[in-house]
Amino acid sequence: MTKSIYTKLVAIIIVLILALMAVVGAFLMRGVRNFYINEFYAQMQEAFAGADMAADLRAAADEPDAAARMTDILRANSGQLGISVGTRNYYILDGDTGAYITGSDPVAGPKLTITRNILTAIDGKEGYAVGSADDYMDVALPIRGASGSYIIYLIDNKETVSNLNAEIFSIILESMAIGLVISVLLGLLLAKTMVTPIQSLTKAAEKVAAGDFSESVENDAKDEIGVLSRTFNDMAGQLERNIEDLQNSEQMRKEFVANVSHELRTPVTSIRSYAETLCDAGGTMDAATEQRFLEVIVRESDRMTKIVQDLLTLSRFDAGSIAFDFQEFSFEQSVQDVYNAQLLEAQKRNHNFGIQFTGPIPPIRGDRARIEQVLINMISNAIKYTPDGGRIRVTAGTKGDTVWCTVRDNGIGIPKQDQNRVFERFYRVDKARSRESGGTGLGLSIAYEIVQRHDGTIALQSQKGKGTAITVTLPVGGPKHA
Ligand code: ADP
Repeated sequence: MTKSIYTKLVAIIIVLILALMAVVGAFLMRGVRNFYINEFYAQMQEAFAGADMAADLRAAADEPDAAARMTDILRANSGQLGISVGTRNYYILDGDTGAYITGSDPVAGPKLTITRNILTAIDGKEGYAVGSADDYMDVALPIRGASGSYIIYLIDNKETVSNLNAEIFSIILESMAIGLVISVLLGLLLAKTMVTPIQSLTKAAEKVAAGDFSESVENDAKDEIGVLSRTFNDMAGQLERNIEDLQNSEQMRKEFVANVSHELRTPVTSIRSYAETLCDAGGTMDAATEQRFLEVIVRESDRMTKIVQDLLTLSRFDAGSIAFDFQEFSFEQSVQDVYNAQLLEAQKRNHNFGIQFTGPIPPIRGDRARIEQVLINMISNAIKYTPDGGRIRVTAGTKGDTVWCTVRDNGIGIPKQDQNRVFERFYRVDKARSRESGGTGLGLSIAYEIVQRHDGTIALQSQKGKGTAITVTLPVGGPKHA
């Protein structure tokens, strides 16, 4: 990849420079040639159209030594005609045949080709035709006098143009060479500035693909590659978080499945062993023991039913398939009703069980049955996890646009490290104790879900060995998106 961007960039810059130079060179050379040709014909026309020289030449043609006289006139005007340049020559030709009579180059003169312009002059007209493809430019003027007819012929072999163009060509070649070196260096530099960040991006991408999110791409540049690098870092971060979430939820799912299997297996195992023992006895067991065994079977079956019911409730909450029945009801009345219902159980355990309302409590909007389910769970936990003869207080009140209820006990308490986890499914501080008292480890999870659906909060304060206070707070108006 590195190689290809380097070569591509350098190649593009080289082609660009070469093309530019070639176009400039071609235009320059054509411009020089056209300028030179135009200049030649303008010069000739100006010289010969000027009355003086043309008249002098015509007058000279009347003389017997016409050729010599005309030569003198041309020489006298050599500056104006540009003959002094060296690439330009004049000749005096026979007006009827175009044959050489005399001229500035006696060697080339007799070998002159009869050009289009000479033919025009033989015809008696001025020959000024331009042939830009020819390697010469010429002018032929017919002069008729008493001593005969002549042609004044000026020819330029364009050597000046060719020399000039050759010079331009070599300058262009030199600039091309320097341009090439500069462009290769620039191309390499440019490619490097692009390739280096791309290389580090590639490296980082390879690491991410291999599951290593430890390194991010360093690039503060404001250009597109800088933006790409930052976007890449954001993406890698997001990906890492998603993977972590997935791993966590996968872990939770596994734990949950293991918990469910375990929770269900325990009652099934005891039901089976008690039933088996009863079967094996074949009616020989004494009535009291038989009654005790049957009671265990019934209790364990009830426990299983309760676990399955609680699981069903939770999975319905998860799926969002439980419709809550939000209506206005008296929170105060609900607290009182739940208290009354639990009173007998509390008395059985000799608890000092009391209730107190701090001022009048407004009615609230919510699902009465489910809120009461939360309150039952809070109070029954206090009864279960407080040694007999404990002290349990239910208090309720209102604050701002919320109502609250606290259940405080002086029971076994919850160790600090477990306080947040008791809302997790199946989490119990003391499994044996919970099971013994008929708990499933799902009560607080269900309570948490119900309170969440009401936009409320449930929180606990506890000290191991001293007691627990658990408080639920609910908005008077019910949840915002009910
Ligand atoms: P469980 O059916 O086991 O009572 P919960 O979800 O209601 O399940 O409670 C989870 C755990 O939180 C209980 O097993 C217990 O360890 C602890 N817990 C809840 N309430 C109290 C409390 N008032 N005092 C001490 N521990 C409590």
